[in-house]
Amino acid sequence: MAVLDQLTSQQAIDLENKYGAHNYHPLPVVLSKGEGVYVWDVEGKKYYDFLSAYSAVNQGHCHPKIVGAMVHQAQTLTLTSRAFYNDMLGKYEKFACEFFGFDKLLPMNTGAEAVETALKICRKWAYEVKGIEENEADIIVCKNNFHGRTTTIISFSNDPVARKHFGPYTKGFIKIAYDDLDALETELKNNKNIAGFMAEPIQGEAGVYVPSEGYLAKAKALCEKYNVLFIADEVQTGIARTGKLLAVDHENVKPDLLILGKALSGGAYPVSAVLANDNIMKVIKPGNHGSTFGGNPVAAAVAMAALQVVKDENLAENAEKLGKIFRSELNKYIQTTDLVSLVRGKGLLNAIVINDDEESETAWNICLALRDNGLLAKPTHGNIIRFAPPLVMNEEQLLDCVSIIIKTLKQFEN
Ligand SMILES: *Cc1c(COP(=O)(O)O)cnc(C)c1O
Repeated sequence: MAVLDQLTSQQAIDLENKYGAHNYHPLPVVLSKGEGVYVWDVEGKKYYDFLSAYSAVNQGHCHPKIVGAMVHQAQTLTLTSRAFYNDMLGKYEKFACEFFGFDKLLPMNTGAEAVETALKICRKWAYEVKGIEENEADIIVCKNNFHGRTTTIISFSNDPVARKHFGPYTKGFIKIAYDDLDALETELKNNKNIAGFMAEPIQGEAGVYVPSEGYLAKAKALCEKYNVLFIADEVQTGIARTGKLLAVDHENVKPDLLILGKALSGGAYPVSAVLANDNIMKVIKPGNHGSTFGGNPVAAAVAMAALQVVKDENLAENAEKLGKIFRSELNKYIQTTDLVSLVRGKGLLNAIVINDDEESETAWNICLALRDNGLLAKPTHGNIIRFAPPLVMNEEQLLDCVSIIIKTLKQFEN
């Protein structure tokens, strides 16, 4: 078959199965086009996208302003490496620093790289500013975290599938329960070598676990009390997804290190970043860290356009408003059934928990039926289905989606 021949769904799936490493278990649907809140499969069937590439496509598929900025920059200058200056990076850094309220930005490409970057900055700060003895720094993380896939990051995962047989693991991480301030304070009080505390403001991959109200603000206050950096991994929760620009904004928390990725590019291109103020970022000096593609002109152009869209189209306000409608409509349905035990989330990052054990196939089968009914979502952990549409959705579309979801769930009532 020639490279440009249009494949059937089955042919595309067969090719991936035969020639691709099997590191994912995709829902059987093959997409070939996207626009706004919709995607189309190769046979032309249209779907609502309720995953948004794990919240990378908050601005909607193929947003014309983002794609326009990308195409223009791609035709002008794509990559210089950081061996030279380019005329886009500084503009982007200023734009993003003012957008999020930090002094400085360190550009990377993927979320995992930005997490690694934040961990390195935190450790260096611990040795050079806080004064922890060399090689003794510990960073506190939370159980059931998801911060990416590098060897260091999976070292502090507690998902056996992500971890097993990838050892030896990186030292220097202490795991405590999420949403547990006592556990945090106990650790901070008893260990003089704590450099930082890293958490997701809502645990996305774990199944959209929203912590108790006040958790983030109190955790930040504890970090200040013990002179420890508060590191917010907002790769999934950031950039309007939860109804505020950042999820920490719900509690007026300003992290010491802010990690962004995913929607920083509106899904057009891999762009990630760590933001911090000068008193922390100053520990990074030439040669300490870098990336060939980090801060390239295309990434800079794409990220500025992607952030501008978030502001111009009031995506945070829209997520807040639609999220309330979504949860209240689903809650009405949940009162009437035993199939779903709850809906939870913030803004347009939500999940339902199917009343079944983690090993059951029910959630997967519901996602297959949702697909057949024109809506794409995927289980996170066995019995949890995450619902995270692009934030450019309107109320009419959302209500249409709610009725698809409820109609589909009703097929599974017994
Ligand atoms: C997706 C995600 C990452 C990793 O991002 P990649 O671009 O896949 O490396 C890190 N942290 C959180 C919270 C995420 O959701």
